[in-house]
Amino acid sequence: MKAPAFQYTQAKDLAHALELLATHGPAAQVLAGGQSLLPMMNLRLAAPEWLVDINEVPGLAGVSDVGQAIRVGAMTRHRALQADPLVAQHVPLLAQAVPYVAHAAIRNRGTMGGSLALADPAAEYPAVALALNATMVLARAGSERRVLAQDFFVDLYQTARQADELLVAVEFDKVQPTQRAVFTELARRHGDYAMAGLALSMHVSQGQANRVRVVPLALGSKPALLEPVMRCLEGKALTAEVVRLAQAAINEQVEAQGDTHASAATKRHLTRVLLGRALQQVMETL
Ligand SMILES: Cc1cc2nc3c(=O)[nH]c(=O)nc-3n(C[C@H](O)[C@H](O)[C@H](O)COP(=O)(O)OP(=O)(O)OC[C@H]3O[C@@H](n4cnc5c(N)ncnc54)[C@H](O)[C@@H]3O)c2cc1C
Repeated sequence: MKAPAFQYTQAKDLAHALELLATHGPAAQVLAGGQSLLPMMNLRLAAPEWLVDINEVPGLAGVSDVGQAIRVGAMTRHRALQADPLVAQHVPLLAQAVPYVAHAAIRNRGTMGGSLALADPAAEYPAVALALNATMVLARAGSERRVLAQDFFVDLYQTARQADELLVAVEFDKVQPTQRAVFTELARRHGDYAMAGLALSMHVSQGQANRVRVVPLALGSKPALLEPVMRCLEGKALTAEVVRLAQAAINEQVEAQGDTHASAATKRHLTRVLLGRALQQVMETL
């Protein structure tokens, strides 16, 4: 199938892109890597009247050190992230997650901003951004605002971004010595969307876990924290019994949705197994 007819403009700079979004509002969609939007248009799951192409907008791609945080431009491609030394050194959870994103050809085009703006609960970056409570930088003509990840992901494919706003960057706090971060995932083939997965960040001091954040992939209907599990772990020493209780919380308290890959029960089971493995990995570093 072919995409429905649409208008197309290549934005020449940021001001031009923001002006186009302000003019066309919800009728326009941003074209970044096109690795999700174009298949959705071809399948007639999306039918924007206007595409605002941001591929030639200067200054939107790249990774930089901004003091306490690492800033990733929205147009930074998955492949560039995979090879980036600042990400490897300061945002190890993201570095662990990137190789799981799709296949090499898609990683060459797909972008950080596109993945976050799409807000797919099976995608890696929304889970990482939530686990680290990253800051989304949104621009509209004449102003900019910053939104924490926990306020950004609103629902399935829905974020706090308004139609006239462009996601220009995301900032991840640098990892601290007491922090532990684990990303793990299961897919039928490497590079396919996750059947189940987990992004976990916690601080461990004096033997106790604190500031625990756990985010599952492909479990619920939107990118969201796994709060019952976090409550089981917060303030506790990581013992076999605490791990068992945290795993049990997935079975007993967490809502799960089945999809074409697996039933809700299978997804809960896989998430429970992955949580056990992730916590074991943390315990081995203590
Ligand atoms: C076969 C296949 C397998 C895949 N597997 C995975 C996978 O395992 N994990 C995974 O995470 N992804 C996967 N993807 C998706 C891929 O990672 C995409 O690159 C990504 O989801 C979207 O990035 P993009 O730059 O291509 O965005 P686009 O497709 O260009 O845009 C996606 C959406 O975000 C909006 N948007 C894009 N950039 C911005 C911005 N800066 N500001 C505001 N809105 C914006 C667009 O308007 C659109 O609604 C897969 C894709 C394919 C085709």
